[in-house]
Amino acid sequence: MKDLVSAAYEAFRDELLGHGLLISMGVDGLYGRSGTFEHVVERLNAAISGVGDPDGPEVMRFPPGLGRLQLEKSGYVRNFPHLAGTVASFAGSDHDHAALLGRLSKGEDWTDMQRPTEVALTPAACYGVYPTIASRGPLAATGALVDVYTWCFRHEPSIDPARMQMFRQREHVRIGTREQVSSFRTLWLDRAQALVGSLELPATIEVASDPFFGRAGKLLSASQREESLKFELLVPIVAEAPRTACVSFNDHRDLFGRAWAIQTETGETAHTACVGFGVERLTLALFRHHGFIVADWPDRVRHVLGL
Ligand code: ZN
Repeated sequence: MKDLVSAAYEAFRDELLGHGLLISMGVDGLYGRSGTFEHVVERLNAAISGVGDPDGPEVMRFPPGLGRLQLEKSGYVRNFPHLAGTVASFAGSDHDHAALLGRLSKGEDWTDMQRPTEVALTPAACYGVYPTIASRGPLAATGALVDVYTWCFRHEPSIDPARMQMFRQREHVRIGTREQVSSFRTLWLDRAQALVGSLELPATIEVASDPFFGRAGKLLSASQREESLKFELLVPIVAEAPRTACVSFNDHRDLFGRAWAIQTETGETAHTACVGFGVERLTLALFRHHGFIVADWPDRVRHVLGL
C-alpha cells in the first residue's frame, strides 16, 4: 500500500514538473513556482481577501524568519523540535576561515563550522502576531483581528508535492475573549467551506491534531482531538493517498495569551485562534481536480478566482 502511495505522489510530482508548474530544486519539498502557478496563488489570495476584508483586519506581513527566542517562547521548540528550523552562519576568525576553505576544497562536511544566529525560520504565519499584539499592552474591548501572510518552514522532506518544506500560509488571527475567539472560528468554518465549495473542490471538515513530538506528544495530540481544538478542511489531491489538509482552524485557548502575557480589556488572559489557508495546497488541488491548463478550468471556478 505504501509503495502505491509513494508511486502516486511521484507521478503527480512528475506531472507538475513536466507541466513546468513546479521547478525542481534537488531537495524533496523545496520547489520553485512558475508564473502560472504564482498567478493562481495570487488569485486565490485575492479570493480569501474578498471573504475576510469586510471584517477590517489589521494587515501584518512578516519575513519568513522570527527571533529564535520568540520561537522558543511560543512553545514550538518544546512541542515540535523535529519540524523547527534555525538559521546558522559562519562567525569564525581568519584562521577558522582557512580551515573552512580546506574542508571545502576536500569536499568535506563544513556545516559544524556554523553557529546559530538570532534568527529562526517561521513555522506558522501567525507566530509573528502574538508578540506584536502583546507589546501594545491590554487589548481593547473589541480584541484584535489580524490578516497575515508568510512563508513558513517545516522540516519534513517528502515526495508528496503537497507537503513542502517551504510554503505560504494566509491566516486570519483573532485575539480576545473566549467568546470572541469561538465565534471567529465558527464563522471561518462556514466561510472556508463556502469558498472551497465555490472552487468546486471536494472537501470535508474533520477534527484534527498537530504532530506533537514523541511519546508525550501523543497525549497532547489526543487531548487536542478530544477537546476539538483543531479542525481541518481536507481535500483529496492524490487519490491513493490520505486527504490533504488545505485549511486549518485552530483554537489555542490561552496558550499564546499566557506565553506572551496578552490581556483582555478586563485584565484576563486573552484567548487566540487562527484560520490558516495553505495556498500552495489549494493551488495544487485546483490543478489536480480541474487540470493542468488553467484556460480549461470550469468557467464558474475561473470566475470566482478572476482568472
Ligand atoms: Zn496560526
